[in-house]
Parts: sequence; structure tokens; C-alpha cells
Amino acid sequence: MIDPFGRTVSYLRVSVTDRCDFRCVYCMAEDMTFLPKADVLSLEELERLCGAFIDLGVRKLRLTGGEPLVRKNVMSLVRGLSRRLGNGLEELTLTTNGSQLAKHAAELAAWGVKRLNVSLDTLDRDKFRTITRWGDLDQVLRGLEAARKAGIHIKINAVALKGVNDMEFDALIRWSHGLGMDLVFIEVMPMGEIGETRLDQYLPLSAVRTDLAQRWTLHESDYSTGGPARYATIAETGGRIGFITPLTHNFCESCNRVRLTCTGTLYMCLGQEDAADLRAPLRASESDELLIAAVHEAIGRKPKGHDFIIDRRHTGPAVPRHMSVTGG
Ligand code: SAM
Ligand code: SF4
Repeated sequence: MIDPFGRTVSYLRVSVTDRCDFRCVYCMAEDMTFLPKADVLSLEELERLCGAFIDLGVRKLRLTGGEPLVRKNVMSLVRGLSRRLGNGLEELTLTTNGSQLAKHAAELAAWGVKRLNVSLDTLDRDKFRTITRWGDLDQVLRGLEAARKAGIHIKINAVALKGVNDMEFDALIRWSHGLGMDLVFIEVMPMGEIGETRLDQYLPLSAVRTDLAQRWTLHESDYSTGGPARYATIAETGGRIGFITPLTHNFCESCNRVRLTCTGTLYMCLGQEDAADLRAPLRASESDELLIAAVHEAIGRKPKGHDFIIDRRHTGPAVPRHMSVTGG
């Protein structure tokens, strides 16, 4: 799959559910309305869709959501997809809030999951509850422990929020690196109507980096996981720190990914509305011919880049879709 700008698409992110057991303030409203279950693809359909993408050249697959581990029987999908590891697929991974990890970590490792992204913005219990509304920090920490015991490499994703967790960045570095985990900061993105003015919390990571450099020795690194993060190593800890800057830095030129929702909608860009319906061609026939034609047609429409803009007069989202729909 090569798009009109010559970029090879080899990375598929799949949102297996739009539901979640947390209600993070930057991601969802507390009274979110979720998709009717009837609109959501079955796990067998998701597996078939993913299989077609692997046949078409996808090498890295990430399950996300919503919270992927709250989908009933999701481990059967992981098991099914793991059969493609070494048989087209090079990496199978997940992004999770960690709440269900204590239960699933050993099985994930058994099915070939070697790396996980776990989202955690603070180590303060009360603040964790405020940010996630429904989350329990200790439960997530137990999940992390189980994943580390199972030998899974962990990358912590922390959304940088001005006045909320910016005073904790040094502590997050010491904690994550002390446990051998990478730490990646993400800029808050204007996605989805969540009833708050998110840009008030917007913290440019360029400023974070400059501030960190006053206390830590940051060495530029060319380490890459195939994603948009730019990495540095911290001399004092020997650990890695990454920065994902969708608002201050346009990383679209190297974009290798597309995103599939749990209803079978394919988004060619996180920051654009254009999408292709793959559920109809998937259900129209047992052979993959129509589906493959629809995927090729969609890749032919992959846009050059996103256009998130920082417009402080505009308090609505730049992209009306919630992050939990397309998957972060
Ligand atoms: N529930 C899982 C989790 O939290 O890791 C997976 C889905 S979540 C949508 C994926 C990532 O998107 C998380 O790291 C979360 O912090 C991030 N995210 C959600 N809303 C965001 C926003 N408005 N701006 C930046 N990142 C956001
Ligand atoms: Fe759920 Fe992840 Fe969104 Fe938080 S960021 S509400 S954990 S989907």
C-alpha cells in the first residue's frame, strides 16, 4: 500500500471498542454516549479485516480504543492475530490505560506481545482520579508490575497538561526510568467535544524540553518505534524520553499509518475527517476482493497531512471525533 505521496502504509491501529472504564478529562465527557453494540464489528470480523491488511503489507498492528482490554473476549482476537506473527506481521502491540493489565499481562506475553504503551499522566492518587475521573492509580500500578514480570517492555504515555502534571515531570522520569520503562510526553490535541476548553491546558513540548534540559542532560537519539515520537536519552538515568508534538511539529511527511475503528471505518489521517467504510465490503462477500479494492481506493485518498491549529478564539474541537473513536 503506497499512498499518493509515496509513503508506504505498514502500520495499522485498530480501535477495538469505543468504550472505556475511565473518563479522562481530555478524551471524553463524563456522560459519553457510546456506539450501539449492533454497529460494532464482531471480533471475528475485526480479525478478518486485520488479516486482509496484513496480506496487503501491514507489518505492525496496534490494538487500542477506547480501552481495548475492556472489550469482552478481546484475548481471542489477540490470540488469532498472534498466529500472523512471523507470517507477515512483525509486531503486535496495544495501547492501554493499564486498568485490566494485572488480569491479562501474562496471557498477552504468551501470545507474543512484547511491548505495550500504558497511559499514565501522574503518580499522585488524587490527581489521577481527577484526570481519569473513574480510574484507580494502584490498580494501574499493579497492572504495570504484572506486565513487567511477564517480560513486556513498557512505554509510559503521559499527556502534558499545564498546571496539572507539569510539576511532576522530573518525578515521572525518575520513576519510569528507574523501572526500565520509556517515557513519552504527548501534547493535548483538540479532538472531540468534551465540554471543556482544553487549550487552556495546552503545553508546548518544546517548552517542556527546554525546561527539562536545565536539570537533565538530554542526548538526541535516532531511536524510533516507527511512530511519531522523537526520542532523547537522559544521561543521568540512561533511560529514553520521547516527545509527540502534533501541534508544534508537523510529522506527517513520514506517516506510515492508517486507523480502523470498531465499526470498520478507516481513517487515513488522525487529524482529518475523510474516511472509508470497510464494513459494507467486508460483509458483502466472503472473499476479500471487494474489501481489498476498498482499501486500495482509501489509501489513494490518504491526505498529505493534518491541520490541527491552535486557535484560541475557537474553543470547539479541531476534529469533532473523539480520540476514543479513532484510537490514540
Ligand atoms: N484507553 C487507552 C489509553 O488510554 O491508553 C487507549 C486509547 S487512548 C484514546 C490513547 C492515548 O490517547 C492515551 O495515551 C491518551 O492519553 C491519549 N489521548 C486521549 N485524548 C487525547 C487528547 N485530546 N490529546 C492528546 N492525547 C490524547
Ligand atoms: Fe479511556 Fe484512554 Fe480515553 Fe482515558 S484516554 S478515557 S483511558 S480511552
